[in-house]
Amino acid sequence: MEKTNNLSRIEREKHVVRLMIDLYCRKKEGHATRCPACQTLLSYAYVRLERCPFGEAKTSCQRCPIHCYKADMRERMRQVMRFSGPRMLLYHPWIALRHLFGK
Ligand SMILES: [Zn+2]
Repeated sequence: MEKTNNLSRIEREKHVVRLMIDLYCRKKEGHATRCPACQTLLSYAYVRLERCPFGEAKTSCQRCPIHCYKADMRERMRQVMRFSGPRMLLYHPWIALRHLFGK
């Protein structure tokens, strides 16, 4: 079981987004290691999280009223979430449940 209990909300979100992007890159795109495009998306996601105006009080990004992602990044992240979302239950069930139901 991965230890995320003592991390901040933002750190946990970063952890989840990295797992989801890596899952997408490996399983969907077939890369052995994170490809440059996915690295760009991950760096972008990190910056968005760090600059999130809600900080530690943030809700899940799907429910956020701001939608701070640029259109192209949002589209790519949407594809990652659509692919990796259901698979997180398979590969990282504890993290996925925390993410879905965690406060
Ligand atoms: Zn990739």
